[in-house]
Amino acid sequence: MVKRIVILGSTGSIGKKTLRVIDALNSSLVARPVRSKSSTSNGTRGPSLEKEKTKYEIVALTAHSSVELLAEQARRYKPKFVAITNADYFEQLSSAVGDLDVEILSGPDSLIEIAQLDQVDIVLTAIVGAAGLPAVLAAAQAGRQLAIANKEPLVIAGELLTKAVRENGGTILPVDSEHSAIFQAMQAGSREEVSKIILTASGGPFRKATVEDMRNVTLEEALSHPVWDMGPKITIDSATMVNKALEVIEAHWLFDMPVERIEVLIHPESIVHSLVEFVDGSVIAQLGEPDMCLPIQYALTYPRRVAGLSKHLRLEEIGKLTFERPNLKTFRALPLGFEVVRTGGTAPVVFNAANEAAVQEFLAGKIKFVSIVELVEDCLNKHNVKTSVSLEELLEADAWARREVRTKVHKSIRA
Ligand code: NDP
Ligand code: MG
Repeated sequence: MVKRIVILGSTGSIGKKTLRVIDALNSSLVARPVRSKSSTSNGTRGPSLEKEKTKYEIVALTAHSSVELLAEQARRYKPKFVAITNADYFEQLSSAVGDLDVEILSGPDSLIEIAQLDQVDIVLTAIVGAAGLPAVLAAAQAGRQLAIANKEPLVIAGELLTKAVRENGGTILPVDSEHSAIFQAMQAGSREEVSKIILTASGGPFRKATVEDMRNVTLEEALSHPVWDMGPKITIDSATMVNKALEVIEAHWLFDMPVERIEVLIHPESIVHSLVEFVDGSVIAQLGEPDMCLPIQYALTYPRRVAGLSKHLRLEEIGKLTFERPNLKTFRALPLGFEVVRTGGTAPVVFNAANEAAVQEFLAGKIKFVSIVELVEDCLNKHNVKTSVSLEELLEADAWARREVRTKVHKSIRA
């Protein structure tokens, strides 16, 4: 069997890990357990292993401006299509892969074409930010099976996106580790039997910090995540805990769960990736090493499990797993996240867009770390929320919030 894969954002942290997972799945490294003839006394699967039979074929890869890496990936994986969304790099990409049998597309709209290609089994979305929305929506409208890492489109257009998936016979498999954990734990009961879901969070580099401590945080400190190695935007989001707020909204849409039944728990070891509580009081969790290769692989091999790259957990070496409540006073982003889901309409899009713009300013060294969430809150306070919105209105609210943040930052720099 062959599974044909499109990776949107193949040059980023998730994109590169996905290619590593695919390499392992296609190589003899990976074996899957089969029921042994001499099954064990309790009837569980025996130890014999068989090679993974599915071949994973790359149909298309995309990048924004990492032209050299994209060309290298094209040479290695021989996709039928490559797309560079920043059209300034088209010539450079064309000359770098000119000898290959590959169609080269460019510009933001090229992603829509790639997302809707025929004869594709999985579209894995690993673009960062709202920029991934048109492509993921196009894939949903084409009834594709989506493996979603790129959470921002779900945050800003969760209703439209999940509706498009339902109406066109598609599916969504979560790649985000917490949502993959919830998806796996949910299989222990029926949807009606779930009483709540509990998202875990590492707490990021400033878990123990006070508001005062955070005033002097440097870019370098904010980019040093204690557990996860990720792209810059999500690393900053983890430090502010905006990431967890985005994940609450993501969980709300993915699992059709009212926010009143979503909780966040700080778990610094990042071993328990999230938990589902059922009506009888049973709590089912998914555990594993903090390594994105596992949730990526599960989204690719689902509904099967195969041995893979992830190191197996040795709880006796970890010894202790700890949990604590998040500090909602220090990490204002978290209550704001819950609030914007309750408000609905354009509130989540403003929350996300203001954050994307503020993180960009922080990464460019123009604002302080604490200003990120202050700018987001300020933007939400100024915004007149529209309920029941079209895609155009969502995009307008997105553009408005980005303008607001930029104007405010530039005014404060001039002052
Ligand atoms: P990166 O910044 O590492 O990679 C982003 C990818 O998107 C790159 O391929 C980049 O291309 C491309 N890209 C950037 N801007 C645009 C644009 N305007 N249009 C089209 N493509 C663009 O991000 P991550 O891999 O860390 O994160 C990707 C998504 O996955 C995010 O939504 C994040 O929240 C989510 N996620 C990430 C996790 C992680 O461990 N990293 C864990 C869970 C979720 P180029 O290289 O050319 O810039
Ligand atoms: Mg996550």
